[in-house]
Order: sequence, then structure tokens, then C-alpha cells
Amino acid sequence: MSKKPMSRIYFDHSATTPMLPEVVEAMRPYFIEQCGNASSIHSFGREAKRAIERARVYVAKLINAEPSEVIFTSGGTESDNLAIKGIATHEGRSRGHIITSKMEHHAVLEPCAFLRRAGFEVTELPITPDGFVEPRLVEAAIRKDTVLISVMMANSEIGTIQPTKDIGAIARAEGIPFHTDAVQAIGKVPVDVKRGNIDLLSLSSHKFHGPKGVGALFVREGVQIEPIIHGGGHERGLRSSTENVPGIIGLGKASEIAMADMKESNESMRRLRDRMFEAVLKTVPDSYLNGHPTRRLASNAHFRFDFIEGEGLVLGLDMLGIAASTGSACSTGSLEPSHVLLAMGLKHEQAHGSLRITLGRENNQEEVSYFLDVLPGVVSRLREISPFNSKRPMQGGNGESCVQ
Ligand SMILES: *Cc1c(COP(=O)(O)O)cnc(C)c1O
Repeated sequence: MSKKPMSRIYFDHSATTPMLPEVVEAMRPYFIEQCGNASSIHSFGREAKRAIERARVYVAKLINAEPSEVIFTSGGTESDNLAIKGIATHEGRSRGHIITSKMEHHAVLEPCAFLRRAGFEVTELPITPDGFVEPRLVEAAIRKDTVLISVMMANSEIGTIQPTKDIGAIARAEGIPFHTDAVQAIGKVPVDVKRGNIDLLSLSSHKFHGPKGVGALFVREGVQIEPIIHGGGHERGLRSSTENVPGIIGLGKASEIAMADMKESNESMRRLRDRMFEAVLKTVPDSYLNGHPTRRLASNAHFRFDFIEGEGLVLGLDMLGIAASTGSACSTGSLEPSHVLLAMGLKHEQAHGSLRITLGRENNQEEVSYFLDVLPGVVSRLREISPFNSKRPMQGGNGESCVQ
């Protein structure tokens, strides 16, 4: 049995990541001494403006864009909203067709649903059982009135890396703007908006060791979008409101570090992840991997265990000091299985029995050893009490109660 590590273990990096000390240090002066508003013409303001423009260069480099193509926002959700509503409603447009997929984040699906209620039509493409959007289906869905194609770069739940370059090429050939939510991909796969045929790209700082509440939208030069927040005309008129200076500095620093360390941190995460793949499937009976085994982020492991509920598993692991997540969200007392897992063809109870482990650069072998030691015991204890376990008689209830 491996020794329990001294501190709690964080295996939920797709939800958010810890900030790096260098990022905190880079932000610190901008809270107090360098408090300027970047729109002010005095020295405080000019310093803030210069710092923002330096950060913009790092964000642009991270995705091979021009600095003038980067718009700072409050995060991934706002970037997705700005891209989707900004294209759809450009110049007062109120009708049109949007293509997206069933595996998108809610930050894409919900703006699309909003536009549908407003009169647009939306096609949500199905996904393959191993977790991909197929370019040929994108091509087949294009209509004369298609105004936007939006497909994510890497999936937030199962980590599969989508063929966005091919999808972007199809969009470009048809003259349709292509948006990709790259929030999960940034810092983990090399992103090149020029070679990748991307017109709009969303990223979020807190998913790659920057601060929460700041992100960016790449808008290719020449692509016209409507702002969704109107005001003083900041960010080329596309995103009014006084810039979040410390946040933007933090995002710039996180981008600089991600570029320098991506290869090394990916290799380290992949080693840990592949060890988990092998050991979990071997030591836990009736366990499976969700999503394609290799065409996925190095940080992502997603397992499925028959006869158990993910919530119980996450809480059981939490009691042992391990933070992970599951394939369903337990909110308002009802269990909603993940829309991504259902779209892959999993049954409700299979989606419920899922566990998502998402690694970060600071995780190590000792933590993985401890996880691998305790997991089989947690799973088997849950199976003994599980209403899903057909090997055990049902004891009332419908198996849908929410473990709080
Ligand atoms: C986290 C996430 C978002 C939302 O980003 P926020 O900065 O938290 O608003 C959007 N898309 C994907 C794929 C995400 O993982």
C-alpha cells in the first residue's frame, strides 16, 4: 500500500487549475501600485495600457495570431457567446442556420439554443461512440443559409481532440466562419489559428494556470462580428468595460509559461495517465475507458464502472483526499447524466457510473500510486450498496436518488 501523500490530491484540472506562483507574482503590482485604468492618459493609465498590450502579444503567440486579433473577455463562456451571437446577429441578421455538435460545452450549446428561440435554426451533429465529430457530417449539414460552424477543439469531459483543421477547411471552402472552443486544448495541444483554418477561437485563463474571470476571443482579421456588450468601446469596440488589468496580465503570463512548458508537462501527464489506464482496467472488474484511447488530451482519463454511481465514487474519493469528477451533475436534487456521454451512445446508468480524472503539471507518481491503491476498494464498497447492481436484490427506491 502506498503512503497517503501529505496533502490533498487535485485531479480535476478540466474544471479549473491552480494558479502558478509566477502568474500571481506578475499580477500583484497591478492590484495596488499600478492601479491605472488603461484608458487614462496619465502615466498610471499608460503603464496599464502597455502591460495589456504585452500580454496580448503572448496570448497571440500562443495561438499564432496577430495581437490585433485578440479580444480580452471575462472568460471562456463570454468568448463563446461573443463568437456565436456576434457572428449570427451581425448587421441585424435575425435568421440563419448554425452547425454545432452534441458534445459542445454549455457555453456553446446555450447561446445556440438562445438563437434558436430567436428564430435561427441549429443543427447539433451527432458524435461517434469514441467521441468525435465527423467532418463529412459537417460538410453534409451545410446549407445555403449556414452562417456559422462551431466545433470544439478538445472535449471537456472525455478529452478527445477533434479534427478541427479538416472542419475549418470545409468551412473555409464554403466561405462560412468557423469558431472553435479551444478552452480545454490550450496549453495541451499546439494551436495555430493560421494553419488550423480557424476564424474565431475561445480560450479561458483559469483552465491553464491563470486567474479565473478572464479569457480571450481570437477574431481573424476581416471577420465581422457584433459586440454583445455595448459601452465605452474598449477592445476595438467588441468588448466594452474597463479592462481587467491584473487578470489580463495573469493570462499573458500563463500563456508565456504554457508555450515554454507544454511539451514537458504533456509528457509528464501522459506517463501518469497511461499508467492509470493500464492499472485501473486491470485491477477494477467491469471497468472501461470512455473515449478514444490515444486521440485525446494527455491530461484526461475517463473511466466507467458498471453498477455504481459516479457521485458516490467522487464523494468516496474525496473522503480519501482525492478530488475528481463524474459524468453527471448533481444539481437541484436530480441526476442529469452528461450530454456528452449520452451522445456517445452510453446508457443513463453507464454515464452515471463514470469518473473523470484530469491531470495537471503538478501531479506526480506518488499521487497516482495512492489513487490506484484506494480506487478498487472504493468501487467495491459502492457496488455492495448499489441499487444498480443486478447481482444484488433491489431494496426499494428507483436508483435515481441523489447522493448529497
Ligand atoms: C471551462 C470551459 C468553458 C467556460 O470557461 P469559463 O472561463 O469558465 O467561462 C467553456 N468551454 C469549455 C470547453 C470549457 O472547458
